[in-house]
Amino acid sequence: MTKHITHWIGGKGWDGEAQRHGDVYDPATGQVSGQVDFASAAEVDLAVAVAAEAFGTWRRVSLAKRATVLFAFRELVRTHAGEIAQLITAEHGKVASDAAGEVARGLEVVEFACGIPHLLKGGFSENVSTGVDSYSIRQPVGVVAGITPFNFPAMVPMWMFPLAIACGNTFILKPSEKDPSASLLLAALWAEAGLPDGVFNVVQGDKVAVDAILDHEDIKAVSFVGSTPIARYVYENGTKAGKRVQALGGAKNHMIVLPDADLDLAADAAVSAGFGSAGERCMAVSALVAVDPVGDELVARIKDRVAGLRVGPGSDERSEMGPLVTGPHRDKVASYLDSGVREGATLAVDGRVHPVIGGDPNGGFWLGPSVLDHVSPAMSCYTDEIFGPVLSVLRAATYEAAVDLVNASPYGNGVAVFTSDGGAARRFVSEAEIGMVGVNVPIPVPMAYYSFGGWKASLFGDTHVHGTEGVHFYTRGKVVTSRWLDPSHGGVNLGFPVNT
Ligand code: NAD
Repeated sequence: MTKHITHWIGGKGWDGEAQRHGDVYDPATGQVSGQVDFASAAEVDLAVAVAAEAFGTWRRVSLAKRATVLFAFRELVRTHAGEIAQLITAEHGKVASDAAGEVARGLEVVEFACGIPHLLKGGFSENVSTGVDSYSIRQPVGVVAGITPFNFPAMVPMWMFPLAIACGNTFILKPSEKDPSASLLLAALWAEAGLPDGVFNVVQGDKVAVDAILDHEDIKAVSFVGSTPIARYVYENGTKAGKRVQALGGAKNHMIVLPDADLDLAADAAVSAGFGSAGERCMAVSALVAVDPVGDELVARIKDRVAGLRVGPGSDERSEMGPLVTGPHRDKVASYLDSGVREGATLAVDGRVHPVIGGDPNGGFWLGPSVLDHVSPAMSCYTDEIFGPVLSVLRAATYEAAVDLVNASPYGNGVAVFTSDGGAARRFVSEAEIGMVGVNVPIPVPMAYYSFGGWKASLFGDTHVHGTEGVHFYTRGKVVTSRWLDPSHGGVNLGFPVNT
C-alpha cells in the first residue's frame, strides 16, 4: 500500500482528481512509498484565489492575534517535532537526529517570527516641519509563494512562511516532489494553531506548478531555494512578471585549513560537514583546501574517521549517515568518483564499498563517504556541485592561493577557515567573497535573527532569507507625512514642500 499525498488548499486536503502524479521513495529500501499529486495551473489558480481572499482579512488581524497564532504553532511544531522528523527520514533518507536538527532550526525561525510586533515597529519623527509629523510603517505584499528543495523539506519552508504569515501575507508553498509529506503535517498544525483557512496553502508538483506560480499575476513575491539553474530561471521569469523574487541557488563550499590549525579539530569538522546528511546540504563542505604542508596529515586523519562512520537506514538509531534521496541522484554522485580518477585525482576513500549496516545494501540508494585527493580546479568533481558524500581535497601552496580559489568559485554560499591565528582569520573574513563565513566552524548557518544567504551564483535577488532581510522581503515600506491643521487652513501654495 502506498500513501496518497495531495495539496492543502483553504484549510483542508484537496479532494479533487489529479491528472499527473509522481512517485515518492523510501531511499533506504529503494521502494515506492507514496504517490504525490502534481498540481496543474488550475489547482494553482484555486490556491491563489483562496489565498487572495484570505489576505483581505488576515492583513487586518492585529499583531497581538497574529503573534498568538504563531506562539500556538510554535508549541505544536515542538510537540510534533518527532513526527515531522520521521516523515523527513522516511522520504528524504537522512538519519533521525539530523531530521530532528532540521526541525529545531526551522523552529528557530518560528520563534523569531513570534516577535513580529517588535519586528514591524516603524519610526516616528515628531514635528519634521512645523506642525508636521512623519512615520514609517511596513505592510504585507499580498499572496506570496515559496518553492523549496528536497534536502530540507521542513526547515527551508520554515525559513519562509513563518515570517511571511507573521507579516500579514498569505502563503502558497510548493515543496519538493521528492519528499512532500512534511509540508502537509505543518499545514495541519497551522490549522490547529488557529490560522484562518486559506492563509497557508500547499500545492504539490513540479515545473508545471512552478511555472503557474511564476505566471500568476496575483502572486506578488516568490521565495525560492534550490539549484542554481532553477534559481536563475525563477528569478528571471518571476521578476519579468513583475514579482519580488529572492532565489537562493546551489553551492560549492570550501573549507580552508591553514598550517597552524588544530588538525584533529579540522579533520572532525571536515568529516562532519562533508558527510552529514550524506552531503546533501547546501552548506556541506565539498572542497577541502589544505594549505601546505598539512595536506597528507589531514587526509590521513580524515581517512581514519571516515572508516568508522556507520552508514545505514535513517530510522536505525545506529546510523550516522543515510542513503541518498533517489537512485538517479546516487548514480550521478557516484559517477564523480570515476570522472575524478579519470581526470587525475586519487580516490583516497571509495564510498561504493563502504558497509551498510541494518539495511539491504542492494535495496536502497546507498553510497558511503568518499574522498578524492589531489583534486585540481579544472576537474569536474571540483567545478560541479555534486551534492553528495564526496569530499574533494585540494592543496594550496599559500594562504593567498587558497583565498584565490575560494574567490574564483562562481558560488558564494558558505566557507570556513580553520586556524589558530586570529589575525589570519580576521583577514580571511574580510577577503572571502562569500555570504556566510565560519571561523573554526564548518557549517556557519546563521541564527534566525540574522539572515541566511549566499553571494554570486548562490543568490539571485537582493535579499537573504529570515532575519531583518526576511521581514523586508515580505513587506513594503511606507512613509507617512501627516499634519493636523491647528488652528486653521494655511492657504494654497504651489511651491515644493520645504520644511519650516
Ligand atoms: P532543484 O532546483 O532541482 O528543485 C528545487 C525546486 O524547484 C523544487 O521544488 C522543484 O520541484 C523545482 N524545480 C525543479 N526543476 C524545475 C524546473 N525545471 N522548472 C521549475 N521548477 C523546477 O533542487 P533540489 O535538487 O530539490 O535541491 C538541491 C539543490 O538546492 C542544491 O543545488 C542545493 O545547493 C540547493 N539548496 C540551496 C540552499 C541555499 O540556501 N542556497 C539550501 C538548500 C538547497
